[in-house]
Amino acid sequence: AQASAQLLFDESGQPFIVMREQENQKRITGVEAVKSHILAARAVANTLRTSLGPRGLDKMLVSPDGDVTITNDGATIMEKMDVQHHVAKLMVELSKSQDHEIGDGTTGVVVLAGALLEESEKLIDRGIHPIKIADGFDLACKKALETLDSISDRFPVENRERLVETAQTSLGSKIVNRSIRQFAEIAVDAVLSVADIESKDVNFEMIKMEGKVGGRLEDTILVKGIVIDKTMSHPQMPKEIKNAKVAILTCPFEPPKPKTKHKLDITSTEDFQALRDYERQTFETMIKQVKDSGATLAICQWGFDDEANHLLQANDLPAVRWVGGPEIELLAIATNARIVPRFAELSEAKLGTAGLVREITFGAAKDRMLSIEECPNNKAVTVFVRGGNKMIIDEAKRALHDALCVIRNLVRDNRIVYGGGSAELAAAIQVAKEADRIDGIEQYAFRAFADALESIPMALAENSGLAPIEALSDLKAKQIETGNSFLGIDAVFAGTNDMKEQKVIETLLSKREQISLATQVVRMILKIDDVRVPDDEKM
Ligand code: ADP
Repeated sequence: AQASAQLLFDESGQPFIVMREQENQKRITGVEAVKSHILAARAVANTLRTSLGPRGLDKMLVSPDGDVTITNDGATIMEKMDVQHHVAKLMVELSKSQDHEIGDGTTGVVVLAGALLEESEKLIDRGIHPIKIADGFDLACKKALETLDSISDRFPVENRERLVETAQTSLGSKIVNRSIRQFAEIAVDAVLSVADIESKDVNFEMIKMEGKVGGRLEDTILVKGIVIDKTMSHPQMPKEIKNAKVAILTCPFEPPKPKTKHKLDITSTEDFQALRDYERQTFETMIKQVKDSGATLAICQWGFDDEANHLLQANDLPAVRWVGGPEIELLAIATNARIVPRFAELSEAKLGTAGLVREITFGAAKDRMLSIEECPNNKAVTVFVRGGNKMIIDEAKRALHDALCVIRNLVRDNRIVYGGGSAELAAAIQVAKEADRIDGIEQYAFRAFADALESIPMALAENSGLAPIEALSDLKAKQIETGNSFLGIDAVFAGTNDMKEQKVIETLLSKREQISLATQVVRMILKIDDVRVPDDEKM
């Protein structure tokens, strides 16, 4: 039977796959089953092909309850696609594992798996048993990985500029490419602030990502410090304090109120005025006490009234009121301050320090927060992503996440390969060469594997509007002739194929993982010749 699968969209935009053959045939086994699985998995993989690379297209995904996601991120597309077919779901898992292990390369891994499946189908049609193909792929994969190792370069992780360039490659295909340099710098600085270069460890827990609707992507900032959802208590207090000395007060910062158990007789305006003056003086003394300790900022757990606020402002003591208990503790630790529960205990030794305290604004001017930066005891950082709407912010966050992963991976293992399909092509050439040395059936699997690797530069060429077959054969000839394995597809028309020159960099870890994960999943699919599902559920 002629098998065919088609990708259709239902009324809410959800993609689904129609398998012609299965309309009248519920269960198939053996080689026919393998072929139908390949078909289903390929249909899913094909949806990602056009998203690959800097010229890749975005997908718009609508969830059953109407949430719209626009993305170019393979893992996200896969996750949001409602894939029902049991074998096709393996592709979704594939993308997820790449995301989990590495963080980028989630599109590439699926495209490669799709290509391997396409090649397998051809071999099956030529009468080669799926198990033979699976075994051949396994060996070919080893050869490809060896090639990757041999063409890999070492990367200077100490060099911030080079890291930024690498982050730019990862961001190049994403929505943020309008302000790519800025996002790349944010990603690099975020990772470097929390990284322990010596032990090659990056604690992602210390990088927080917050999104707030409003403003433009360009307004996205990295805050190296603690951000609290508070502002200076008075609008005329300075919005920025350098080298702040911070007093953290958990005692009420206000004049003593007349205790209610004492009867207070106020019989004249003079009396009232006298009381007011007394209150005012006491409070001014309190302010002086704080200032005398050397504090330039008071962080208070409690509130104070408008009058007190005015006095603080008039006496040049910036203050923040109503700061919650957990934040107080966080600030105390970060700034090296001691929490002061009673005024009498206030002294210079109890103050904390922060290189910079400032109000940061978001969109509408009333959306402000206070960030306490350059603290002696804090490495945590926060990225505030801004954008016109939630969709853009979410996609920008995903893009940043990918870039953060790339930089983290480099800190962990500084070996790199070059992109634009150059590494895949170099591996393909070596795998094909190896095929000529083998006489068994495996040689077909080797050639097929090489062809599948070439599908990455091919897809990049296609997505950039180049004539794919021509571009690829040109490139291949050039790589073989010059022995330069850094030649890839010039997807952005920079005028050179040398990806080292173009600075299109990918981590060796990621590329290795893509090739081995794709091979693994394809081998798995080749070995499934029967799927049994409950009667009422069609596969
Ligand atoms: P993934 O989700 O797999 O990371 P992307 O859509 O980010 O997919 O595309 C990554 C692919 O695009 C890689 O093969 C990478 O080498 C290639 N690429 C990225 N930037 C460029 C560029 N400027 N020129 C050529 N190829 C590029």
